[in-house]
Amino acid sequence: MSMGNHILVSEIFHSIQGESSFAGYPCAFIRLAGCGHGCRHCDTGYAEEGGMSMEIEEAVERAMEFGAPCIEVTGGEPLLQPGVYPLLEALCDLNPNVLLETGGFLPVDRVDTRVHLVIDIKPPSSGVSDKNCIENLQLALRSPERFEFKAVLASREDYLWTKAFIGEHGLAGNCAIVFGPVFGQLDPQQLAGWILEDRLTVRMQLQLHKYIWKPDTRGV
Ligand code: SF4
Repeated sequence: MSMGNHILVSEIFHSIQGESSFAGYPCAFIRLAGCGHGCRHCDTGYAEEGGMSMEIEEAVERAMEFGAPCIEVTGGEPLLQPGVYPLLEALCDLNPNVLLETGGFLPVDRVDTRVHLVIDIKPPSSGVSDKNCIENLQLALRSPERFEFKAVLASREDYLWTKAFIGEHGLAGNCAIVFGPVFGQLDPQQLAGWILEDRLTVRMQLQLHKYIWKPDTRGV
C-alpha cells in the first residue's frame, strides 16, 4: 500500500491505448500494483502483488518522458492506493488527456474532475458482478462527459445481463459505453451481430493491444 507521496508501481510503459474511446492513440501507462478483486478474466494478474515503491514525482516524470498525447493510470486497482489522487492531479496539470481505468468496485468521487474515467462493468462471467459500485453510475449521470463504461463479455448471458444493467441504471444513450469480447472466448462477429440486432447505442471494441502484440505480452 502507498504511503504519503509514494505509490506502489507495477510498471510504467509506452503503448497504444487499447480499449476505450482513446483506443489507437499512443499512450503512457502507469500501472499501479495491487488489487485482490479476483475477476475471473483478469489479464493483469501479475500486477496484483509486488510492485516497487516510487515517489509520485518520479512516476509523473517517467510517464511524461514518452511525450504521448494521453496518459493512463491503471492497475491492478489504482483506487486502492491513496497516492493515486495526488498522482492524477499532478498528471492533469501537465497533460489534458489523463485517463483512469478502474475495476468499478470502488467509488470515483475523490478523483480530480479533469480525469476521463474508464470504469469496468463486471458481467456474470467475471464472478464479481454483484460488486459493481452503483454510486459511480449515479455520479456518471451528473457529468456524463467525464465517464465511460467498459464491459468485456464472455458469453450471450454476459451480453444480456449488461444490456439490462445499462438500461436499468439509465446509462444507455447517456454515457459512452464500450462492449468488447473476452479475447479468445467470444467471437467478435457474434457480439457485433447482437449489438446490431438490438440497435444498442454502444461502441464495440476489440482489445487492440492483444492484436498488435501477442495476447499475453506484458508492458503493452
Ligand atoms: S479489478 Fe482489474 S486488476 Fe483487479 S482482478 Fe479485476 S480485472 Fe484484475
